[in-house]
Amino acid sequence: MGLNDSSPGAMRNGRGLSDQWAESVVVRPRTTERHITVHKRLVLGFALSILTLIIVTAVAVVLSVQFEACGTRDRDETTGEPSSRGPGGSAKLNGGRGERMGEKGDEEVVQPWRNSRLPGSVRPRHYDLRLAVYMDNFTFSGEVSIELECINATRFIVLHADRLEVCWRSVINLDRIFFLHVLCMYVVALHREMKPMRVYRLNVSFDAAIEDELLGFFRSSYTMQRERRYLAVTQFSPIHARKAFPCFDEPVYKATFSLTLRHDPQYTSLSNMPVESSSLSDEDGWLTNHFARTPRMSTYYLAWAVCNFTYRETQTDSGVTIRLYARPDAILSGAGDYALHITKRLLGFYQDYFKVQYSLPKLDLLAVPKHPYAAMENWGLSVFVEQKILLDADVSSSSYQMELTMVVVHEICHQWFGDLVTPVWWEDVWLKEGFAHFFEYVGTDFLFPKWNMEKQRFLTDVLHEVMLLDGLSSSHPISQEVEQATDIDRVFDWIAYKKCCLNSALFHCFQDYLLSHMYSNAARDDLWRKLSQAMRSEGRDIDIGEMMDRWTLQMGYPVVTISKNQSEQLPTYYITVSQEHFLYGEEVSAVTRVSTHENNWQVPLTVAVGNTSAVCSESLIWINNKTETHRIGQMDDSTWLVGNINQTGYFRVNYDLQNWKLLIQQLHTNPQVKLVCIQYHLRLAGYLPQGVPLQLIGYLPEETSFLPWHAASRALYQLDKLLDRTDEYRLFSDYVLKQVASRYHQMGWPTNGPGTEGNVLQASYQTEELQRELIMLACSFGNKQCHRQAVAYISDWISSNKNRIPPNIRDIVYCTGVSLMDEDVWEFIWMKFHSSNAVSEKKILLEALTCSDNTFLLNRLLNLSLTSDLVPEQDVIDVIIHVGRNPQGRNLAWRYFREKWDILNARYGEALFMNSKLISGVTEFLNTERELNEVSESSGVVFSVISRLKMTSDRKWHLGFRKV
Ligand SMILES: [Zn+2]
Repeated sequence: MGLNDSSPGAMRNGRGLSDQWAESVVVRPRTTERHITVHKRLVLGFALSILTLIIVTAVAVVLSVQFEACGTRDRDETTGEPSSRGPGGSAKLNGGRGERMGEKGDEEVVQPWRNSRLPGSVRPRHYDLRLAVYMDNFTFSGEVSIELECINATRFIVLHADRLEVCWRSVINLDRIFFLHVLCMYVVALHREMKPMRVYRLNVSFDAAIEDELLGFFRSSYTMQRERRYLAVTQFSPIHARKAFPCFDEPVYKATFSLTLRHDPQYTSLSNMPVESSSLSDEDGWLTNHFARTPRMSTYYLAWAVCNFTYRETQTDSGVTIRLYARPDAILSGAGDYALHITKRLLGFYQDYFKVQYSLPKLDLLAVPKHPYAAMENWGLSVFVEQKILLDADVSSSSYQMELTMVVVHEICHQWFGDLVTPVWWEDVWLKEGFAHFFEYVGTDFLFPKWNMEKQRFLTDVLHEVMLLDGLSSSHPISQEVEQATDIDRVFDWIAYKKCCLNSALFHCFQDYLLSHMYSNAARDDLWRKLSQAMRSEGRDIDIGEMMDRWTLQMGYPVVTISKNQSEQLPTYYITVSQEHFLYGEEVSAVTRVSTHENNWQVPLTVAVGNTSAVCSESLIWINNKTETHRIGQMDDSTWLVGNINQTGYFRVNYDLQNWKLLIQQLHTNPQVKLVCIQYHLRLAGYLPQGVPLQLIGYLPEETSFLPWHAASRALYQLDKLLDRTDEYRLFSDYVLKQVASRYHQMGWPTNGPGTEGNVLQASYQTEELQRELIMLACSFGNKQCHRQAVAYISDWISSNKNRIPPNIRDIVYCTGVSLMDEDVWEFIWMKFHSSNAVSEKKILLEALTCSDNTFLLNRLLNLSLTSDLVPEQDVIDVIIHVGRNPQGRNLAWRYFREKWDILNARYGEALFMNSKLISGVTEFLNTERELNEVSESSGVVFSVISRLKMTSDRKWHLGFRKV
């Protein structure tokens, strides 16, 4: 620093500057090597060679865009104003963002940084990135040489950096450099314009700390043999690469990367590509790893790690090496083998499915002790939090295994959707997240067909969840405008993740899409174009773009009401179909977002009709208008109708009361009607005729398959949350217990102990899951026999010190035991939590501790989790959320959350995803006016709360139930 700034006036229009550097500013591509003629006289030839070399070097130095201004860490400057780093001094630049800087009409041309996005006049082509990593004091220093291509003539290079101490070397043609705090952008202003089609080079060196906060290049630790060991790893998505090196940190700026990492040789280093060469320094003995050059990629999935993990590896048939890196003890115990095994199968599956080869020579899976997300799909180096990748088969439940499997399937899918083809901008983040989420079900179904994931579980776990959220007036269209950096985390919510799966039938022509955009970016219109072409080739002329825009640009979805009417002239019936925007509660007035499509959707409605003796074939009707009439087959008084068969369409269906009555009768006798999923209709909230919800549950004792029970239990837990602490609660829980009792007693408890049941892959999945679902329902709603059994298991464990509880129901037994038994049991579980090494076991033991009725113990747990090392940082948020789910801990968690908000916000503030998980977690159960008012009064509590408020203000659920 300490350089002078030119006068503000000089900067205003880019004119009036001295042209003394004019010639040297014109930066040209490096010239090719000069051909040297061999002279007859050897000595002269040698002299000429030396001279030529000197000239070429001198020219190269002159042609590089280099600077010699060094800055303090930008985070230290808190003014929020841009500061100048020009050669003229360090005075504030007059005319930052938002201030008028000149008289010219086209201000954006003069000041490209007035837009929060990068201006696009120059693009990076290649980054040469060299880093030295100091694990002893958690700092790193680096140099980056960025090869830039000029697209449009400009005097400015605008790029991102955040929290870096940046040093710009050797002033040649620099006018000034200034930093825009709010945007985390450096603006490098040159005296003369760069010319289109030319290539330039920008050299920057920088230093920074390896922070302890889960973003950028951060550190993490674990204990092994009572010794604390550290590792450092990156998390760049969505906007944190700029915390590790100056770069063009937007997904559209794809470039190739050559990375070099230098560090203490006791550590291993990893990156997206394999190590190409490595050497040990004679001077300090340090190891230098040169990684192979990457294909074109965005900054957000660039990654590296420095750790002393060990690994196991396998290889695919096509020669891709897959390694799983984790703590040495986890590798030794084989906890990574399952993920390694399924990853190998998945790479083959996706290559066949997409018909596009995996792009890199290797894929590393890295299991880290803490991470802001479940996992991150860095190309060739996917990072997972341990609980989502390490599996101890002997002690893990099938639900833990399923969750883990789906995370792996999701991340591997991103190697294509996200990494190979990347959304142009974050507003279309669903282009990658939606696909990856959809493939969680397709991929898991491939791995374990018996789990029945794709067809059934997708409906209960995804479709219904997202419809619940999307039915709130706080919802948003899946494509959202994202301009500010702070908006970016907002779009990574469940709506973007899940809603995309609507009309999943259309997503079977990916190959073309992937091939057209590989190593590049795509926006939603690119996808629609591909889909329309595919439809046309099948002879169906549908404008997918027009149809899909109605779904992706409008928030929410329609409820389609079908009613049966008799024709006045003819002795026959016709149906009237109407559509309206589905909203929970009477919140239509709250919907202020203007929709260009007037809340009208193109709805592909499948309808089946039947009577007591037969079900007719289905028909497909395209609904385009608010109200339409159609004639479908023969109908009479006793004919019932079912719409949206198999629920493949992203909308809800409602009927007239007469049809509801006919359907409920059919539930008991007709399996086809069961496809009208119970949960789905329970959530029709205020639209549903009164009395219908409980009558729908009423058929459950006859139900023998897992999925309807699974769907019902999810709906019942929702109702449980809403009715808790109301007068009707006892009535409700008694009713549920009555419905569950007979099937629960019939199924009983698993009889086999650990060791025999451990391998859930071989188990009869549907039966086990039904048994588990029933035990969970019975124990949580207070079945006495269920409680006795759980207590007996825990007592046996304590007295024999042998855990004979079947892994698949351990979480239920632990939680029930802790809630019913005395403090000693809590202490016992707490002790086991510390002594256990298996991550899945640790997770359920910690959750069980939150089940206690004793507020003193809950309080102790909350305090310990935040202030001591005993609870891993990753789990603190889960502890608070789980305490909040316990009726005895609800107020405690809420009070704790408010009191510690500043600490929590400071710790997780920027990892918004975790914060929003915490906020929605603790507010999930608030359902009194006073509590809701407290939320709105709490400062700093942001958008997620609003969304929760809308949800809990859905009084119709209560009212509807009360009137039953
Ligand atoms: Zn994802």
